[in-house]
Amino acid sequence: MIKLFNTLSLKEDFFKPISDNTVGLYTCGPTVYLFAHIGNLRTYLFEDLLKRMLIYNGFEVNHVMNITDVGHLSSNADVGEDKMELSAKNQDMNAWKMAEFYTGAFMKDLERLNIIKPDNIPKATDHIAEQIEMIEKLEKNGYTYQLEDGIYFDVSKFAEYGKLSRQKMDEKQAGARVEVNLGKRNPADFALWKFTASGVKRQMEWDNPWGRRGFPGWHIECSAMSTKYLGQPFDIHCGGIDHIPVHHENEIAQSEAASGKNLANYWLHGEFMLVDGRRMGKSEGNAFLLEDLIKRGFDPLAYRYLCLNTHYRIQLNFTWESLAGAQKALDRLREHLNVFSQSVNRDSKSANSEYKKTFTDAINNDLNMPLALGNLWKLIKDENVANEDKYFTLLDFDRILGLDLSKKNEPLVNIPAEVNELVSKREIARSEKNYKLADEFRTKISESGYEIEDSSDGPKIKKIIA
Ligand code: AMP
Ligand code: ZN
Repeated sequence: MIKLFNTLSLKEDFFKPISDNTVGLYTCGPTVYLFAHIGNLRTYLFEDLLKRMLIYNGFEVNHVMNITDVGHLSSNADVGEDKMELSAKNQDMNAWKMAEFYTGAFMKDLERLNIIKPDNIPKATDHIAEQIEMIEKLEKNGYTYQLEDGIYFDVSKFAEYGKLSRQKMDEKQAGARVEVNLGKRNPADFALWKFTASGVKRQMEWDNPWGRRGFPGWHIECSAMSTKYLGQPFDIHCGGIDHIPVHHENEIAQSEAASGKNLANYWLHGEFMLVDGRRMGKSEGNAFLLEDLIKRGFDPLAYRYLCLNTHYRIQLNFTWESLAGAQKALDRLREHLNVFSQSVNRDSKSANSEYKKTFTDAINNDLNMPLALGNLWKLIKDENVANEDKYFTLLDFDRILGLDLSKKNEPLVNIPAEVNELVSKREIARSEKNYKLADEFRTKISESGYEIEDSSDGPKIKKIIA
C-alpha cells in the first residue's frame, strides 16, 4: 500500500526526500484562457512559501509548474467545450496568441508577488508526443477503451482509485453522475484523448494513433510532464483543494497504471480564497485581479502578507478592509526595519537564535505562518533584543516571507496605508449607497493630500500636486 501524506512537517524525520538533498516539486499551473484571479494566486503563494521553507532548511528544490494551454474542459465530466477554444472564440483571438498573452500576464503576477520562478515551466501543447506515448502505455496495460468521442481511462481497473480523497468508489460515481457521458463504463472514467467533433475545426488539434485529429484530456499533461521533468516517484505534488477529488486522483491513476510506480510521496493542497463566503472563481463573477488591487493603490506584497497571515489549509475570506490592514502591517514592518537598520554597526549578520528557532519550528510544522508572524511581531516589541539583532533577524525571516522588507522607503505604490483604508471605507459606503458617508471619506482623503477619480475599473488614487 502506498503512503500518502496530506501535510508536511520537517520535524522528527517526517519528511524524507527521495534523493538526499534535492526535493522534486510539481505544482499544477494555470489554464491560460483568462487572467489569473487573486484566488488562484493564493494557491501559488502557498506553494512559494513551501518552496522557500525547504530552501531555508538547506534543501535544493527542483520545481516544475505546467502551463495548461489545451484540453481543460468547462466540465469535469469530459463534456463541454475546451476553455481555451471557447475563450479564444469569445475574445475573437487566436488560441495560440491568447495562450501566450495570458501566460505572460501570469508570469508578471508571479514576479509582482515575489514568487520564485519555477525551474521548469512546460506547456501542454509542447508535450503532445509524451502524452500520446503515456496513453499508449495505458492502452498496452489494459486500462483504456475507445468511445465515439475519445479514449477513456477505466477507473474500475485501477484498484486504488480514490485513495487521495479517500472517497469510496460509489460516492465518487454518484458525484460524477450529474454530467455523465452516456457511453462511459463507469461515471468516474475520464478522457485521456478527445477527438475533434465531426464538422468542427479546432485551432489546436493533432494527429494521433486512434483516429480523427484531436487533443489530450486535461489530466494526462501533468502525468506526462511530471514524469519527464522529475521522474517517478517524485517528492511533493501541490495544487488547490479542488484538485483533490478529480484532477489529482486521475493523475495518480494514469501515472501509476502506466509505470506501476508511485506518483508522488507527499500531497499538499491550498484552501480556497472566498468572497462573501463563496469561492472566488472566474465563472462565479466575484473574482478580483492583482491589477484591481494595484489600481486601488495597494502594494501586491500587501496581498502576499494577507495570505501569509492565514494558514494554507484554512479558507480565507477576502475583504478590502483586511487588505488595508495587511498593507498597514507591511508598511509598519518596513518602517521598523528602517529604524533598526540605523543601529547596525557590526559585520556579523546572524539572526537572534531564540527567535529564529521559534520561527523555524512554526514554519517547519506544516507551514504555520500565522504563528511565525506572531513571533516576528513579538520580536519587534521585545526590549531585551538589540535593534541590530532585530534587523538581521528580520532580514533572515524575509527569505521566507518574501515581503521585500528592506524596501521600506520605496514601496511599489506610494500611497499611505491610512489613505488606502479611507478609500476602502469609501468603497464600502458607496456599495451600501451611503453617499453622504462616502463623501465624508472623500473629504478626509483629500485632506491627506490625495484625490480619487472613479472609473469603471474602480477608484484611481492620485497625489494632489499643489
Ligand atoms: P486554474 O487556472 O483554473 O486551473 O486554477 C489554477 C489554480 O488555482 C488551481 O490550483 C486551483 O485549484 C486554484 N484555485 C482556483 N480557485 C481558487 C480559489 N478561489 N482560491 C484558491 N485557489 C484557487
Ligand atoms: Zn495538474
